[in-house]
Amino acid sequence: LRQGLGKTRRSLVNQLKAIVGQGPLNRDAVMEIEALLLQADVGLEATDYIISTLQNRLREEALPPEGAIEYLKTILRDILDRPLKNLGDPAFAPEKDILNIWLLTGVNGVGKTTTIGKLAHLAQKSGYSCLIAAADTFRAAAVEQVKVWGERSGTPVIANPGKNTDPAAVVYDGIAAAQSRNIDLLLVDTAGRLQNKKNLMEELAKIRRIIDKKAADAKVESLLVLDATLGQNGLRQAQVFAEVAKLSGVVLTKLDGTAKGGVAFAVAQQLNLPIRFIGAGEGIEDLRPFSSYEFVEALLN
Ligand code: GDP
Repeated sequence: LRQGLGKTRRSLVNQLKAIVGQGPLNRDAVMEIEALLLQADVGLEATDYIISTLQNRLREEALPPEGAIEYLKTILRDILDRPLKNLGDPAFAPEKDILNIWLLTGVNGVGKTTTIGKLAHLAQKSGYSCLIAAADTFRAAAVEQVKVWGERSGTPVIANPGKNTDPAAVVYDGIAAAQSRNIDLLLVDTAGRLQNKKNLMEELAKIRRIIDKKAADAKVESLLVLDATLGQNGLRQAQVFAEVAKLSGVVLTKLDGTAKGGVAFAVAQQLNLPIRFIGAGEGIEDLRPFSSYEFVEALLN
């Protein structure tokens, strides 16, 4: 992870350490920190919170450089943990003995299909049986791509090759297959068309209705896949999804390719959603359950 966050570390952390290590924050220091955080796409809200909290503490007592960095870490962890409060362990943990259904949403290109493949792999590795429903029926290529990831991870894929297939029908078939095979986790690839908010909303609502009807006992998660390289722009997309889908968490991808890793803090602060997984690479192993401790340590150590 440390390596994956290399770009963000280099741009943000070394400089931040130097400034914070100088003692009480004067006006120049505050402005420098502000600029660094905004540059890493931490966002205005989280940046304000970080600086005012840090400043209050440094006014109270002079902290040695290492102490100031440790305190900064607690502020950062606190931001990431707040939306996780009621969620318990952020590890990869589908519930035992019931069907878990995870809906993955996100705009095309953010890494949704890749994430599904990685999640399927993680599931199998962790001893959960898994099935994928290819319900992004709008793009023919999407179904093919999901199948490739299904093969890679050794996971069966439920798809309906017909033209204009109803995504909800694929979800229905997926649930039926999952129930008859006693599957632990059904991963659902959904369409990510933002251009037509109303369609998207209706499509997701219909999928939800099918789930409520056919798998009322299932534990449903709705995960938004966000591309970290898009920084604050990605967050704007996220807001649209947050309006139409009942999101329960975020998967942050492509952290390896960006200096905007600070967007993790903006996600937590602005969207009030827990980050559940992070992707830092194109390979099947490059996804891990999110831990605020691990993330902040990787960033600031
Ligand atoms: P989708 O359109 O949202 O399904 O996106 P894809 O899963 O097809 O991914 C789009 C591109 O992003 C592909 O080239 C992936 O290899 C790449 N990608 C996905 N996740 C990551 C990641 O964590 N790191 C990097 N560097 N690339 C990624």
